[in-house]
Amino acid sequence: MKIKVNDQVKILKGKDRNKTGKVTQVFSAENRVVVEGLNLMKKHLRTRKQNEKGQIIELAAPLRAENVMLVCPKCGKTIRVGYKEETGSKKRVCRLCKEIID
Ligand SMILES: [Zn+2]
Repeated sequence: MKIKVNDQVKILKGKDRNKTGKVTQVFSAENRVVVEGLNLMKKHLRTRKQNEKGQIIELAAPLRAENVMLVCPKCGKTIRVGYKEETGSKKRVCRLCKEIID
């Protein structure tokens, strides 16, 4: 998974296309990410008691990872992530400014 929690990403598809936000959750098994405040879905909550009004809450729905692009924290551009081996660990690197992102 190229995207991690707290990354800034730009959405490429859907109603929030071209918006950027912070990743709050990553589901690597499903290859999906949740972006704070974006791709909101309305969810209806049922009432439990009588006389209580049903509520509608908005939840950020997971997006497919291929529909978001990482925003480089250094150069601020949307980038494809590259990798670099450094002291035995694999680091993510910006292909434009060569900055290590991890
Ligand atoms: Zn960069």
